[in-house]
Amino acid sequence: MATDDCLHNNSLMISGTRAAYIHIPFCRRRCYYCDFPVAVVGDGGGRLNREQAMRRYAESLCREIVLTAREFPATGLDTVFFGGGTPSLLPIEALDAILATLDRSFAITENAEISIEIDPGTFDLAQLKSYQQLGINRYSLGVQAFQDDLLAQIGRTHRYDDINRAIAQLRQAGIDNFSLDLISGLPNQTLAQWENTLENALRVSPPHLSCYDLIIEAGTAFERQAEAGKLPLPPEETAADMYRLTQQRLTQAGYEHYEISNYALPGYQCRHNRVYWENQPYYGFGMGATSFLGGKRVTRPRTRREYYAWVETLNHRENDLNRVWERDPHDQLLETLMLGLRLQQGVNLDAIAQQFGSDKAKRIIDVLTPYRQQNWVDLAPQNGQQWGRLRLSDPEGLLVSNTILTQLFHAFTEEMR
Ligand code: SF4
Repeated sequence: MATDDCLHNNSLMISGTRAAYIHIPFCRRRCYYCDFPVAVVGDGGGRLNREQAMRRYAESLCREIVLTAREFPATGLDTVFFGGGTPSLLPIEALDAILATLDRSFAITENAEISIEIDPGTFDLAQLKSYQQLGINRYSLGVQAFQDDLLAQIGRTHRYDDINRAIAQLRQAGIDNFSLDLISGLPNQTLAQWENTLENALRVSPPHLSCYDLIIEAGTAFERQAEAGKLPLPPEETAADMYRLTQQRLTQAGYEHYEISNYALPGYQCRHNRVYWENQPYYGFGMGATSFLGGKRVTRPRTRREYYAWVETLNHRENDLNRVWERDPHDQLLETLMLGLRLQQGVNLDAIAQQFGSDKAKRIIDVLTPYRQQNWVDLAPQNGQQWGRLRLSDPEGLLVSNTILTQLFHAFTEEMR
């Protein structure tokens, strides 16, 4: 009986799954700051072998999609996101096969948002037109910086001219829904250079901008350089000034700062990423991808060999429990706070009180009182609601989001002991 209930609950949650992330792990080389699961394929000869490897990968991916649809069926995908890696390296036929498999398995809706990450120097106009024919309607261009010396220092393969060519091609193809990805806080980057990057970006009038602050991840070339004292990162206060400058320039230019690192003109927020931040279920396919289905997060193996072997065992997923994280209510509460507080709209404390209990809502308010006094946290009353909506102030609250989230994490983890 308990098992039946459990299955019933799972299928209810899964039938609401309307988003799919597809990981395309191939890159020409590994950037010095990147810890993503990628397979480096170079940019010189051996093109045939490369294409063969990518087709082999796409086959496994399609098999994973088909087997997953049997186990976790759903109808009506609203968002599909091809991320990487560098999805623009994938042959069109492979992309076509993946989309067709997704459509057969889950029925992509007519108005679905279908996004792809593309890198300057890895596509041309004909390729963009093929993407459009496949129904891809949102493009995320990995610009990162507009200065050749900075691009070289972070290990990117493209340069300023490639960025300009890529943007001209997007325009030529008539694509108006695109985003530019930028990174601040790079080694040797000055505030003036960051300002120049923002100006270059604004000149293009992209409907969406993602502005990330560099994080030194474990196992990267940058981590090794930092440990050896050879990574001249900007001082913390300069990095904070970059964040403030971004917020000021982009909001003045009419962008909504709808998420801690994301800005959009009205109507251009990324629907797919909102699914993550709102802690909704989603499919994840491909090497290293994470899915969130039936209340469980599952992360796939991070090398191709292990991933191929894992796909073959999909009919026996129970063998793979070490990669499954079941979330108890404590985890769910922390996830809801950590993801929701990234959003400008913040989190609805009444919904939290309803799901986790009023004592939790009260505890959150108590923990955050000192931050409310500093105007880093705002609690806005909502009509007819008891608790209201909690959000971080922009930009100062968002700048110290790590500190605030750490306090919440400690408070609730202590409570569990
Ligand atoms: S292109 Fe993107 S995914 Fe590939 S190595 Fe560079 S940062 Fe990582």
